[in-house]
Amino acid sequence: MASKGMNKINRIRTFALSLVFIGILVMYIGIFFDSSPLIMTISMIIGFVFVISSSGIYFWIGMISTNTVKVECPGCGKVTKVLGRVDACMYCDEPLTLDPELEGKELDSSYNRGSSRHKS
Ligand SMILES: [Zn+2]
Repeated sequence: MASKGMNKINRIRTFALSLVFIGILVMYIGIFFDSSPLIMTISMIIGFVFVISSSGIYFWIGMISTNTVKVECPGCGKVTKVLGRVDACMYCDEPLTLDPELEGKELDSSYNRGSSRHKS
């Protein structure tokens, strides 16, 4: 696998896509067992289940996508979706977080910029 795919939604999408290919492959293999209708039927059913569960996962991605937060990645400047408290950028795998407590030290200066104006 390439470096892309650390993002949760991307990972689920990759999983769903590979599930489709596995399902098609299983059904394709089943064709070669035309002498045994039982094996052919079983492989067809298994392959069909894979494809169906894949589309189910795609549906699930659509559901959880409503829970994602769109943020601009500080690494590449593109708008990416963050699922949960910590996720990676869809484009450059930059680790992103919605929790300021988990924020890296190098980002502290930019966070303090807005609040450091008042007197202490
Ligand atoms: Zn990025």
